[in-house]
Amino acid sequence: MSTSPSYQGRHRAPGRHRAPRRGPRVPVGFRGGFVLPSAAAAALVVTATGATVAESSPAHLDLTGSSAKLQARSAALADFDHLESVQQREAQSSAVKARVQESQHKAQVARIARDAERRAVAKRRAAAAALQKAEAERKARESWIMPIKGAVFTSGFGWRWGRMHQGDDFGTPVGTPLHAMSTGTVVFAGWQGGYGNKVEIEYWDGTVSVFGHMSVISTSVGAKVAPGDVVGQSGNTGHSTGPHLHLEIHPHGGAAIDPAPWLRDHGLQ
Ligand SMILES: [Zn+2]
Repeated sequence: MSTSPSYQGRHRAPGRHRAPRRGPRVPVGFRGGFVLPSAAAAALVVTATGATVAESSPAHLDLTGSSAKLQARSAALADFDHLESVQQREAQSSAVKARVQESQHKAQVARIARDAERRAVAKRRAAAAALQKAEAERKARESWIMPIKGAVFTSGFGWRWGRMHQGDDFGTPVGTPLHAMSTGTVVFAGWQGGYGNKVEIEYWDGTVSVFGHMSVISTSVGAKVAPGDVVGQSGNTGHSTGPHLHLEIHPHGGAAIDPAPWLRDHGLQ
């Protein structure tokens, strides 16, 4: 901005036609000859004429018109305010509803997830239980037991009196129940030379057991047996020098082996 003396001087100089502008400002509506649209303007009219609202009928008349307009406007504003508050309430209500719905939805989703998790856990537990049961059943099915209880070992596998003795002998009274040693199938049941009454069982792992010198055979070829099933009774039939069980073990149905280590390996002696 310029600071030349002439410019400053011009503004400092109190010009005559600048003076009226320092006086009280008159509202635009007031300058048009006292036709005023507002109550404030009406009050000014009354003050200007020096009369009260009640005394001055023209002012009163003017006011009546203004008042009606004001009332209408005020009513419109009130309506608007009312409408606005209704809208706000509705908006708030909608927001509350939306929040409630959202929380309900979340709860439902959580419930579904929980149910799914419970079902999954139950399924896993059932599967684990089924697996455990199957494993227990398999162990039972594949377990091994001695054919007789309380037997006394009397003679072992090997050469004896100039010939090969194919098994172990266990002294036991005639009529002692003889049990299948595991799960399998009877492959021979009958009389055979020096064995007397003989039963052969082929087990689940291919092992074949032979019971000789039996007094009673209570099974037949093809019969399915479980560990402990009774297949007959001990005796003294065939080439036998006393009541005993002659037991042979043939891995995979092949040549007989010494039963003692095999029995030990199977936890039986
Ligand atoms: Zn023998």
